[in-house]
Amino acid sequence: MKKIIIIGAGPAGIATAFMLTKSQKKLMIIEKQKEVGGFSKTLKFIRNNDLYRTDIGPHRFFSRDNRITNLIKNIIKNDKILVNRYTRQLIQGKFYKYPIKPINAFLNIGFYKSIIFILSYLNAQLEYKILGKKIKNFEDYIIANFGKKLGDFNMLNYTEKIWGIPCKKLHFDWANQRIKGLNLLTLLKQSFKLTNNNPKTLIDHFFYPKHGTGQIYSKMLQIVSSAGSRISTNSFPIKIIHEDNKINKIILNVKGRKKRVKVLNLISSMPINDFLKILDPLPPKKVLQKVKKLKWRAQVYLFLMINKDQITKDNWIYIPDKKIPFARISEMKNFSKSMSPKGKTSLFIEFFVDKGDKIWNMDKDILFKKTIKHLEDLKLVNKKDVLDYYKLSFDKVYPIYDISYKKNLKYIKKYLDRFDNLSYIGRPGRFRYTNQDHSIKMGLLAAKGIIENKKIDFDEIGNEKEYYEKGNIDG
Ligand SMILES: Cc1cc2nc3c(=O)[nH]c(=O)nc-3n(C[C@H](O)[C@H](O)[C@H](O)COP(=O)(O)OP(=O)(O)OC[C@H]3O[C@@H](n4cnc5c(N)ncnc54)[C@H](O)[C@@H]3O)c2cc1C
Repeated sequence: MKKIIIIGAGPAGIATAFMLTKSQKKLMIIEKQKEVGGFSKTLKFIRNNDLYRTDIGPHRFFSRDNRITNLIKNIIKNDKILVNRYTRQLIQGKFYKYPIKPINAFLNIGFYKSIIFILSYLNAQLEYKILGKKIKNFEDYIIANFGKKLGDFNMLNYTEKIWGIPCKKLHFDWANQRIKGLNLLTLLKQSFKLTNNNPKTLIDHFFYPKHGTGQIYSKMLQIVSSAGSRISTNSFPIKIIHEDNKINKIILNVKGRKKRVKVLNLISSMPINDFLKILDPLPPKKVLQKVKKLKWRAQVYLFLMINKDQITKDNWIYIPDKKIPFARISEMKNFSKSMSPKGKTSLFIEFFVDKGDKIWNMDKDILFKKTIKHLEDLKLVNKKDVLDYYKLSFDKVYPIYDISYKKNLKYIKKYLDRFDNLSYIGRPGRFRYTNQDHSIKMGLLAAKGIIENKKIDFDEIGNEKEYYEKGNIDG
């Protein structure tokens, strides 16, 4: 019998399975890891019978689409917590609140520097808006909208730390996707408007599941598996056999055993590079050459268990300073008390790296030693309070939007779009920087495409025409 096969049990794959199940369809999910949830899973660590939970970097759920928000709220029901966001950036030794609080920002920056920022912004307006200088890359975008001085102060350096390449080599799509419609003026307007009397906005409030973001996906999968569909973890495709623009068969490694399955529909959320390499016959050489040019950024994390009730009030602290090797610190307990045992807390520390580089290869204890020194200097943590620590490393975390990615991706997609019964979705599947909501939406629409037998334009998803965090939490 021909089957509907879903590759990858991250938000995109799980949402597809959930929607198909709601329409009484049976399917099979193939997941390479031993746990489901992809980068949106919640990990558990046990020490002396104490349970610590952590997302892979805390996952704030938000969506501009109320249908998606309502679906998630209905899934997590009474386990949803409304979190008041508390985020700071550590710049040149001072903490700046985000969303920006004008008085905090002004006191930190000082009068002289504020004037420099404004003059630099006006100069950029002259260059880009009046004299018509073209925006060719991410750096141009930031300078045109915020001025060079403010850009250097906290945007360009942080961006380079994330991506590991100069902002001149980053495509301005990165800005289009994250900060479209935002500039120094709208930012100031927004920060003056944020008072307690205003409706809760997507910037300063969000919903969080009591037991971590992974709760959303395990609940969805419970519904899928109780309807009789199979989820195979520790499994992956070996070969995808196609003919005449149709995927016919898939050869799988299911928990170490080879299995051949006839395909009715294939939904893939595995990395697009890896997918193309297992097609049989292989794509033309030129497609494979383009695939090689798609690059990913990896991440290394340190998870610290700490013998203190709380370290900070922050959800996240962002650290653009390149002298500090990590870029973000978060305290899971400030999302939900259930993430740490009573009287204890944890910190999740993110390093942006390339697979195989110095930090990727660094021994766990050496990395901890380096990190704790910075944390002590910042007066956040004392080494004696750290009970235990774990190092985690993940590859293919962030698709790099370099200058030529769009051209290469377009060519690859043109090849893949010929397959009638294939949907390639999600962050790795489409080489697109999605948040959970966009991956979920792709999954729901992939299912709709199968149910209604129609082609879906996945590129439309997440293409907001304005700043993506704009809007109120209840629509
Ligand atoms: C540090 C960090 C912080 C984040 N913070 C937020 C946040 O605050 N809010 C938010 O909304 N989003 C956040 N995200 C983004 C979010 O994690 C992703 O948008 C989401 O997980 C993407 O879902 P996906 O299903 O598209 O891909 P993934 O989550 O990557 O899932 C893909 C799945 O495919 C599986 N797979 C890969 N290869 C194979 C193979 N060969 N065979 C079978 N299976 C395979 C993987 O194991 C994985 O389970 C964050 C991401 C990171 C890394």
